[in-house]
Amino acid sequence: MSKHLRVAIIGAGPAGIYAGNILASKYPDVNIDLFDSLPAPYGLIRYGVAPDHPRIKGIVNSLHEMLDSGVIRFFGNVEFGKDLKLEDIRKHYHAVIFATGAIKDATLNIPGVDLEGSYGAADFVSWYDGHPDFPRTWPLNAKQVAVLGNGNVALDVARVLAKHADDMLSTDIPANVYEGLKASPVTDVHVFGRRGPAQIKFTPIELRELGELEDVDLVLYDEDFPEGWFDEDAEGVTNQHKVMARIIEGWREEEPKGASRRLHLHFFSSPVEILGTDKVEGIKFERTELNPDGSSVHGTGQFVEFPVQAIYRAIGYFGSELPEVPFDDKYGVIRNQGGRVVDEDGSQVEGLYATGWIKRGPVGLIGHTKSDATETIENLVADVDQLVDPAVADTDAVLAELKARGVDYTTWAGWLKLNDHEIALGAADTSHVERERVKVVDREEQVRVSNA
Ligand code: NAP
Repeated sequence: MSKHLRVAIIGAGPAGIYAGNILASKYPDVNIDLFDSLPAPYGLIRYGVAPDHPRIKGIVNSLHEMLDSGVIRFFGNVEFGKDLKLEDIRKHYHAVIFATGAIKDATLNIPGVDLEGSYGAADFVSWYDGHPDFPRTWPLNAKQVAVLGNGNVALDVARVLAKHADDMLSTDIPANVYEGLKASPVTDVHVFGRRGPAQIKFTPIELRELGELEDVDLVLYDEDFPEGWFDEDAEGVTNQHKVMARIIEGWREEEPKGASRRLHLHFFSSPVEILGTDKVEGIKFERTELNPDGSSVHGTGQFVEFPVQAIYRAIGYFGSELPEVPFDDKYGVIRNQGGRVVDEDGSQVEGLYATGWIKRGPVGLIGHTKSDATETIENLVADVDQLVDPAVADTDAVLAELKARGVDYTTWAGWLKLNDHEIALGAADTSHVERERVKVVDREEQVRVSNA
């Protein structure tokens, strides 16, 4: 250990917090400052995980311990590139780790995609999770809805749309979201995969949940299940696939219960056009079939249309470019090799690192982020001797500069206040069932409570 290190991390979601924690354990002689553009920590867990997934939200407990230990300082409401520029980072830190994730929707290039009523799933998720930078209202006026994609985000969106709002009331669902969902007239939510039921990217727990929704019938269609549709000896078939195939087979044998809402699972349906003149009136698919390789598909030339009034595109997320940081437009990630940021020629940019979805793309569960962070941190630690000492030695100087710029940053102590405040709001709400918390949505209100 050759020098005392100072490292900034941009992004206080699981990727950033794991990276900080791993760095502190591998290189204890370090000061770590964790910045986020939002006033509260936890990124994707607070603003990406569906409210009715407390098991995943439970990861917050271990992240809380990591931040509460005091090894990492948290500063919220600080936007990289605006409040804190790369030149500031270079002045105050040896290195920076970008852990900004991916919050935009991947683009779907088909006619009609911009019609009113065609939504990106990422935007809807940000709305139902009360992200402060998204509108407070969502137009939930469709009876028939299509959700495109066969990943877990499609499942989250379909479940939140189909589920009765009262069944989510005990969660941290924001008040405006509960009211919006309660008024939704939806009767049918159709989920479409462009490949087959054996090629789904869901995970078993999330899939099984669909069959447990109160007053929602699951509907599957025989034409999507060719003879021998699931071959458990096929290449690449995992235990997870086997479990999911059994779940789906079980559903196929069930009789509908006459529920007031239905959730339909369709496969072999590749979207080709969103129909409508001013707003969404339907969607057109080309039916597909498997190629001999058993996993890719080709179009059959047969087209089908469904009347729907809203479409949610859950076909993957995409990372956002950060000012002055090399970015790969094709994959939506920071250019990097093993977490070391590189420029277009592949040369390492001194002192810059990346981890999480902005490093590897928006795939994988939260746990995968740990191994990803380990790789980045090992490379950073290996580079320590080459890292340039920052010009300013005082670790609080960066905060004084933020203050001088009028940045109303929040701190860990502030988050503890906001956390208590949200839990107290939940406890005070006696009009409904017991509530875990009521999330404060408004940014100014979060800052006010945190810095009171
Ligand atoms: P994903 O798992 O990559 O799924 C994307 C889906 O979109 C795939 O079914 C893909 O089909 C489909 N797709 C892509 N382009 C398409 C197109 N042009 N037309 C039609 N369909 C298209 O992505 P995700 O659902 O956004 O999830 C991201 C990551 O977060 C995943 O690792 C996921 O497991 C994780 N996540 C986990 C949870 C949870 O644990 N509860 C919740 C949310 C997200 P192909 O397969 O044919 O490419």
